[in-house]
This record gives sequence, structure tokens and C-alpha cells, in this order.
Amino acid sequence: MSEESKSYHMDLETFRRNGYAAVDWVVEYLRDVESYPVSSRVRPGEVRDRLPASPPRTGEDFEAMLRDVRDVVLPGVTHWQSPKFFGFFPANGSPPAILGELISAGLGVQGMMWATSPACTEVEAHVMDWLVEMLDLPGKFASRGGGGGVIQDSASSATLCALIAARERASGGECNRGGGDGRLVAYASTQAHSSIEKACMVAGIGSRNLRPVEVDERFAMRPEALAARVRRDRDAGLKPFFVCASAGTTSSLALDPIAPLARICAEHGLWLHVDAAMAGTAAVCPEFRFVNDGVDGAHSYTFNPHKWMFTNFDCNAFFVAERGALTGALGVLPEYLRNEASESGAVIDYRDWQIPLGRRFRALKLWFVIRHYGVEGLRHHVRRHVELARRFRQWVERSEDFEAAADCPLNLVCFRHRAGDEVSRRVLAAVNDTGEAYLTHTVLNGRFALRMSIGQTHTEQRHVTRVQELLQDAAAGTRAV
Ligand code: PLP
Repeated sequence: MSEESKSYHMDLETFRRNGYAAVDWVVEYLRDVESYPVSSRVRPGEVRDRLPASPPRTGEDFEAMLRDVRDVVLPGVTHWQSPKFFGFFPANGSPPAILGELISAGLGVQGMMWATSPACTEVEAHVMDWLVEMLDLPGKFASRGGGGGVIQDSASSATLCALIAARERASGGECNRGGGDGRLVAYASTQAHSSIEKACMVAGIGSRNLRPVEVDERFAMRPEALAARVRRDRDAGLKPFFVCASAGTTSSLALDPIAPLARICAEHGLWLHVDAAMAGTAAVCPEFRFVNDGVDGAHSYTFNPHKWMFTNFDCNAFFVAERGALTGALGVLPEYLRNEASESGAVIDYRDWQIPLGRRFRALKLWFVIRHYGVEGLRHHVRRHVELARRFRQWVERSEDFEAAADCPLNLVCFRHRAGDEVSRRVLAAVNDTGEAYLTHTVLNGRFALRMSIGQTHTEQRHVTRVQELLQDAAAGTRAV
């Protein structure tokens, strides 16, 4: 064989065969995932120890790779797709999303600009507009008007983009040109997600200039505390510019009162960003739209279909009311990206709506999910999860051992053992040690609380009932100690 005709590529027929094997593998994984201990038991370094020190000199068979996925990778996986996963927040997925991901990889387009693959931009803009309708978000967030939606990798990136847009608005573009003067101040509740602090660090605002605003007994931001802090900062010669309201905090799903916060923002000319990372999906059901009450007053809004909307990570939805504020803050135009379509002003170039230049065709998987389930299908499953949480919460309330630690507006139940932190901690460890369920914890009002987060695609009543049994056994075990 001549050097010229030699090829190391996987030919298409082999790819087809391997592709079927990979899909079979995923099907069997999802079928069996319930039988695995939910959280990985490996010790640090154990996965790497099983990998060859150096890369292979000659190519290997796909069968060998799949074998190692089973033997090396799987033991080091915590099974977020298990119906017994109740930790942190759901990162659920579904077959239509996986297929969308596969086709996106197959197309392998770079969707940085409309011109580099028009369908990548147009499907995305359209699906984002669908979300506006499905969630009953304000029309100003739709791309047909002056705003629009964009898919980011994460809520953290969305919040960073919102903060930068707000920063440029407040500084008249000066921060981008010459750096800031250190006087801009941002606000979020003491319960807000750490991504807001990180955004302040990355955007040069400084974590010292993020004011933690006090919360009420429900862990929701106190509007009067925000107003007082803004006034104090103003009086000290600082420049308040940005407020992040949480529509569902990570710890306890507390809902900040967006409407009064929006009034304060309007009075002081502050940008209001709403972080509805997990809870945003609930708004697909009309009866849960209270999560977004007051969102009309927001400048930007974000939630993660990659948490609760059956669309595997990564897929964040980020909306702005005024797209010029975002593109003005993030747009840079080198000569090599100039093209007629962009210059016509008739197209969206998503590279100016995000931090990186490159972007992949993430909209496909979300498009497939929405088309597969339909709005009714999504509502059905979200309602099921909320109902499971409601019943679990009732069980907690009736239990002699446990008590609720926070309100439960949707699918997260925070609770604790009545005997205090140490026992709660032991109960959590004992439940997780069984491998039959996985829950995580938080601290609320200085007290340890267990979190039961329900939103995995295939979680059913029997999985929740089993957690109740495990909790009961663990509580009995702590009494015996
Ligand atoms: N905001 C809230 C309220 C969250 O709960 C989370 C995730 O836990 C995030 C932001 C960060 O999400 P992402 O991982 O998409 O950046």
C-alpha cells in the first residue's frame, strides 16, 4: 500500500458497526443503571491507576475501548441517570436528547456566526422563542422583538454574560475600554449560587463588591434589605449596577420576590438578572408559574434545560430583553470574521452573545426533546416529580424522627433529624453507604439539613418509598448506637 493511500481513519462501515454497538451500550447502561450503587466508590487516583501510563503507539479496536468503559470508567461514575439519584439537583437526560447530541457531533458544525452554518443559529433562535412561549416568559425575551435567547454551556456563563452586559451599560462601555474603577457594586442574597461571586471575580467587579443581601425566614431575599444596601453604597459614592434574584436557590429552592426587587432596580437604574437554574423548568406547567412572578421587570433570565428538562448537560437557556446590551458588551470584530450576512444586520451572530467564539449545535438536542415530549409530555413528568416531592414531604412531616427544614414549593425537600446535626449527618452517610440512594446536604440557619432533590427522568414512587425505608432504618441505627 502506498503512503498516499494509507489511512488510519475509521471507515464509515466500521463506524456504522461501532455506532450501533455504542448505542447498544448506552441502552443497556440506561436499562441497568438502577442496579448500580448510585455514587462511585473509587478512591482518589484509582481510575488513573488503571489507565496505561503512555498513549498507544498503534491504534486499538473499538471493542477494547468499550470494554474499558465498562471495566475502568463505570466504577468511577456516579450515576446521575439513576432513578435513585436525589443529590444536588437533577442533571437528567433522555433518548431524544442523546440522539440530538449524536447528530450534532456528526454534523460537527461551528455555529459561531450565522454565516458559518445558518441552521445552527436559526434553529437555536427558534427553539429559544418556543421556550419563551412554553414557559410564558415575557415577550421581550423573544428574538422576534429586541431581545432574544441563546444557549450557553452553563448558568454560570449566562450570569457572567448578564453581569458583563450590565457592567458595560453602567460604565458607558468604559470597563471594556479601560478597565473599571472598582466602584461598581452587585447584589445577590446570602443564599444565591456561587456562580454570581465567580462572575464578579471574572468580570473584574471583585468579590468584595458583591453584597450579600439578608434573607427572610423562607431564605428569600428581603427587598427592604436590598434597598437599604443600595442606598448605603450610593451614599458612599459607589455605583450599584446589578442585582441577581434567585428563582429557586440551590440550597433550599427559596424564591426571591422578583416583583419588589424589580421595582427597586427600576428606581435605581440597576440591571436585574433572574437565575432560575433548576426551577425555571417548572414554568412549563401553568400552576407552577409562580416561580417567575415579577419576571417582567428583569433585564435577563436564565434556566438550565440540562437540569430538569430531560436535556443532557450542557444546555443552558439565557434570555435578554435588549440584545444590543449584550452584543455591545461582548462583540469584537476581527477582519477574518467579516461577512456580508453579518454586515447586513439581518442575522444573529451568537458569538457576540457568549464568552467563547466557537459554539456547537446544542439546539438540536433541545429541539428533539421538545418535539418528542411535546409540551404536554414535559408537563406530565414535571408534575410527577413535584407530586413525588409533595408526598415525601408529607412523610417527613408525619415522621417521628425527621422534620422539615424549609418550604417545599416544588421538587426539593430539605429536612433534618430531630435529634440534631450529628445524627442528621450520620443518617445521611448511612443512607448513601447502602448505594441504594444518593442524597446530599446543605446548611440552613446554621443547621445541617438533608436534601432530597427529585427530578431524575425515571424516578418513581417506589424509589422514593425506598429512601423513606432507608431513612427509617438509618434513624433506628443511630438510636441503637
Ligand atoms: N444557579 C443555581 C440556582 C444553581 O442551582 C446552579 C447549579 O447548581 C447554578 C446556578 C449553576 O449552574 P451551572 O452548572 O449550569 O453553571
